[in-house]
Amino acid sequence: MKHIHCKVFGHDYEVTRHVTAHVKEYTCKNCKEQLTTNVNGTLTKLTPKFKEINDVLERIHRKKHRVRLKTTPANPELLVFSH
Ligand SMILES: [Zn+2]
Repeated sequence: MKHIHCKVFGHDYEVTRHVTAHVKEYTCKNCKEQLTTNVNGTLTKLTPKFKEINDVLERIHRKKHRVRLKTTPANPELLVFSH
């Protein structure tokens, strides 16, 4: 009956990993159950499959981020086309 606290009060999740700006992994402080944000932005159980997906996401995100930083020097022409 270790998880009785979670049953009564709900899980006490804390962010244990930032995958991307929108995807994070959470672990319950009490029962160690793990959740992750999926691509739809909803929480789902962190299965080994999702861990794999998050690994890939993290890699892509880091790569993208680096590229974005490199190409950031404000391009005023882009602003013309944004509504
Ligand atoms: Zn819990």
